[in-house]
Amino acid sequence: MVIMIVKNRAVNQTNFKNKKIGFLATGTELITGELLNTNSQIMADSLLQHGIKIGEHVLVDDDQDNIQDAFRFLLEKNDCVISTGGLGPTSDDLTREALAQLLNLNLIFNPTSWERILTRLNNSGRYPTGAIPMSNKKQAYFPEHSKIIPNLNGTADACEISCEINSQNKIIYLLPGPPKECLPIFSEIILPSLLNNNFGSDQKLYRWRLQGVSEAQMAELLELELKKYNLIFGYRAHSPYLDIKLNLSPSAELEEILNLVEKLVGPYWIK
Ligand code: ATP
Ligand code: MG
Repeated sequence: MVIMIVKNRAVNQTNFKNKKIGFLATGTELITGELLNTNSQIMADSLLQHGIKIGEHVLVDDDQDNIQDAFRFLLEKNDCVISTGGLGPTSDDLTREALAQLLNLNLIFNPTSWERILTRLNNSGRYPTGAIPMSNKKQAYFPEHSKIIPNLNGTADACEISCEINSQNKIIYLLPGPPKECLPIFSEIILPSLLNNNFGSDQKLYRWRLQGVSEAQMAELLELELKKYNLIFGYRAHSPYLDIKLNLSPSAELEEILNLVEKLVGPYWIK
């Protein structure tokens, strides 16, 4: 894997058209089943609504080598990787260290983040004697050339790293794990930035919720009647419903396809 860090932040925007996003969630409690990885699910669903393609999802424990292996795998297969968790102050929070080691980057102290952490902890009332644990200082270190994204709901700031791997532009986001911290950063900063970097496609997701028909029956009918359009339908049966999904780009046939699908699903469609 040949890695180059993009120091000039003007990454060629057209390079990302129709590219994929991979997800990494770090935390031993996620792989043991103690905690459900809702972060990646919520972010993937939101990206899909904006026509952005989703690649692989990986869950790893708090082990630096495993986190590094997961980044290597996801970066080879995706154009952007969004990681959550492992940015806390304790010794089992190792995401920043794993990525810096993989990309051969130093971790650099960011005074602005440290100021924000101190202000937040001093205002929290948890340290009336003023003795802020120095372990928190670890949260003010970021891989060099990172763009720091302030966390308004917690101590660990997020960051964005642009690099070139095997001559392909990549974007990596490191986000804190708690949903109330990472999800606002995702929706307010990351999603708009990905759309701005042209990650989206012109495809729109259409969904129909049906009742009273089986997946096999509906699939047979749709695939037979719409054969000439070469479409790929998605099906999700969740009793008593059947959801049908279709990604379509604007085209001269769009209206015709939608009318035909709606005619076929009509008797079962719950609008
Ligand atoms: P902290 O400073 O709290 O340690 P962190 O960035 O290191 O933050 P984690 O230690 O991975 O994040 O997670 C902290 C908490 O956030 C977890 O105990 C859990 O409640 C929640 N959390 C972490 N990852 C996820 C996830 N993928 N989906 C849902 N909740 C998560
Ligand atoms: Mg943690």
